[in-house]
Amino acid sequence: MPGDPRDYRIDLSVTAETPASHSAPSTPTNSRPFLSIHFACCGVYQRIYRSADGTRYAGHCPRCARPVRFAVGPDGTSSRSFTAL
Ligand SMILES: [Zn+2]
Repeated sequence: MPGDPRDYRIDLSVTAETPASHSAPSTPTNSRPFLSIHFACCGVYQRIYRSADGTRYAGHCPRCARPVRFAVGPDGTSSRSFTAL
């Protein structure tokens, strides 16, 4: 009797979408700095967060997944909002 491949896939998605089995890690998400980015490509706003090593901000457009990156420089701007063209 051949196995039903859907069983396997359903099991995977349930595991991925319900993190209740393992409690959320105590990541200090609230204290992570972020930038407000206006994605001109789709006309939407999205926050992007600083990378773990603190050298850049990286994220992507929520609609078209266009990647954006901002380097953190010693004499960089203190602005918190940018437009990704
Ligand atoms: Zn976009």
